[in-house]
Amino acid sequence: AHLDRMAAVDGAVHAYLHVNTDEALATAADVDARRGAGEDLPGLAGVPIAVKDIVVTKNQVTTAGSKILEDWVPPYDATLVRLLREAGMPILGKTNLDEFAMGSSTEHSAYGPTRNPWDTDRIPGGSGGGSAAAVASHLAPIAIGTDTGGSIRQPAAVTGTVGVKPTYGGVSRYGLIALASSLDQAGPVSRTVLDSALLHEVIGVHDPLDSTSLTDPAGGLVEAARSGDLAGMRVGVVKELGGEGYQPGVRASFDHSVELLRSAGAEVVEVSCPSFDYALAAYYLILPAEASSNLAKFDGMRFGLRVEPHEGPVTAETVMAATRGAGFGDEVKRRIILGTHALSAGYYDAYYGSAQKVRTLIQRDFAAAFAQADVLVSPTAPTTAFRFGEKVDDPLAMYLNDVATIPANLAGVPGLSLPSGLSDDGLPVGFQVLAPVREDARLYRVGGVLE
Ligand code: GLN
Repeated sequence: AHLDRMAAVDGAVHAYLHVNTDEALATAADVDARRGAGEDLPGLAGVPIAVKDIVVTKNQVTTAGSKILEDWVPPYDATLVRLLREAGMPILGKTNLDEFAMGSSTEHSAYGPTRNPWDTDRIPGGSGGGSAAAVASHLAPIAIGTDTGGSIRQPAAVTGTVGVKPTYGGVSRYGLIALASSLDQAGPVSRTVLDSALLHEVIGVHDPLDSTSLTDPAGGLVEAARSGDLAGMRVGVVKELGGEGYQPGVRASFDHSVELLRSAGAEVVEVSCPSFDYALAAYYLILPAEASSNLAKFDGMRFGLRVEPHEGPVTAETVMAATRGAGFGDEVKRRIILGTHALSAGYYDAYYGSAQKVRTLIQRDFAAAFAQADVLVSPTAPTTAFRFGEKVDDPLAMYLNDVATIPANLAGVPGLSLPSGLSDDGLPVGFQVLAPVREDARLYRVGGVLE
């Protein structure tokens, strides 16, 4: 059914970069046969899934949305992909994204943007716009995204879906093409909070192949999503997230959801996290710094594209320059330049060092806020889906989309975005819930009640 629907509507949405028809059907048939033979299969066996094209899949093209990896076929599966296969979930295909997950609109994909199914003149968020649009337009019942600064939660917000960034280390990063290793985290995108909890329990297991993988990841997620009870729960509204710069319709929808939590028995308090005002600036130094280092491996020798210079000698250096010049898009080049500058001798302390200090202050703000509240809440993004072209030539305007999602990545705390109705412009609004490290279950408890 999903493959048929892709044939009918994905021409207009462009959620997928590659579709794995044969393999998905073979897995589905295998699950049917085993179920028919009376085998006891995992709960999600047979449920098809879409995977963001920055997660490597054995023998299936993985591009990270970049020309530099066009036609690149990985020789191995990411750990989370292995877990999906073991759970019997057919992988429908790989979804579109901003190149190397840099962006908030999918307009930076080298393969053309994904369109928001609510209004195809508008962006589906980013970088994981493909996964969110696939789920929103019933091109997949559930999907995998990655979130380094909001790329699961912000696309979920603007497409009316649910997206979860687990605690850092909760899902293995082995086989994720790294953007910023200290921030990257994979997680679920779905249409209901319970669906995300079910998938989170499948992928949230310790992995010795990732040195930052938690040995004892958060549990009780499905139970929490089903609890329906907020008695004794203290909800902190973050003063710094939701004021100036937020669309009035977004704020109104957020306030309405907070009232729903209050009437469901939660105690609502206001908390202040003053360092959050500097989170965006710190992130846009730390992320480019780590990305410039992670992307150094795309050298024209080992992976994907290789371009030889038009003239002059063919040396390692000239091949590297020609390959990277042709293979990377403008946003990727911009961040490599920013990152290498921030890390260079004489500037390191002023830029990268200062950003790391701000990161510590943000972690302290979270610790103080979580002493007053069990979860924190805010709008997920300052606006509803904007139109194509509105921000693509203005990097700072694009970066401002991430103002509410970035603090969670800098501190490693888990976050969930779920729909909180429509704004006065008729477009979906996202409601964000944040919890302390390893307390992912709280996200599902609050989300399950609000849904
Ligand atoms: N918009 C953010 C950025 O461009 C989000 C990135 C992400 O989470 N992958 O960096």
